Amino acid sequence: MLEGQHMPEHWEGPFGKVGIVHRTCPLCEHDNGAQPASRYSHDIWQIKYCSRCGFVYIEKAPDYEALFSKMAWERTTKVEEQRRASIRPFSYGFSKRTKWRMRILPRKKMHLLIGSYAKPGNVIDLGCGNGMAMATLADGFVPFGIEISTHLARLADGVFGNRGGRAINGPCLEGLKEFPDAFFGAASLRSYLEHEMKPVAVLRELHRTLEPGGVAIIKVPNFGSLNRMVTGRKWCGFRYPDHLNYFTPGTLRAMADKCDYRTWFGSTFRLPTSDNMYALLTKT
Ligand SMILES: [Zn+2]
Repeated sequence: MLEGQHMPEHWEGPFGKVGIVHRTCPLCEHDNGAQPASRYSHDIWQIKYCSRCGFVYIEKAPDYEALFSKMAWERTTKVEEQRRASIRPFSYGFSKRTKWRMRILPRKKMHLLIGSYAKPGNVIDLGCGNGMAMATLADGFVPFGIEISTHLARLADGVFGNRGGRAINGPCLEGLKEFPDAFFGAASLRSYLEHEMKPVAVLRELHRTLEPGGVAIIKVPNFGSLNRMVTGRKWCGFRYPDHLNYFTPGTLRAMADKCDYRTWFGSTFRLPTSDNMYALLTKT
């Protein structure tokens, strides 16, 4: 073993035996193995604050192979619902008391944001699920997608095929390599980047496939939100182990800078009262 390498590990849980990989900081690549786990950790899923750059992430993650089938999102959702049911007495009451938050938060829809900020043309949806989020894109947009769940990718391929696009089954980094330079005018990263094991590599590969001036619209949970600070471990943004990366507005911008995007937060894109934030990244 070379210094800094870690033994391959396995984990026996509700999904059977799955391979586990050790992650260095997704933003600055620092190895935080010696750092204590934060109080947000759960089971073997240790959440670390990078001691060098402050990025927050799960240090051990299921390998890509597990994400294809055994731990596809639609399966882990059932287990996550059980974990949440056990903490519901507190969070349900809290959520009721803070219902006012819903009324002051403007609702956003990805297909409308793309219509507002991108020119008609090819659009790629990273982590496209069953494709329905792109089914309502305005005329002139041709939807493409990449999805790691085999079952969902097949459904999306049917939806996109009707409009001249297609969906690829695989990790986004591999899927993007199938597209030529400057092929897309826009990208949708809706509730995706927090799941991605290699967010910097994906944002760089996406940059290659975007035309100059092309935009990537990102929606991720906001680890800097007031609700996370108030509810702590019970914050709705924690999903074990699906959410591998926990962004704040600052660390999202830092990652975008590293990958040569210009970042813009609209006036209502990162309200501290919202559990999620949006960012518009432009290829420079
Ligand atoms: Zn770091």
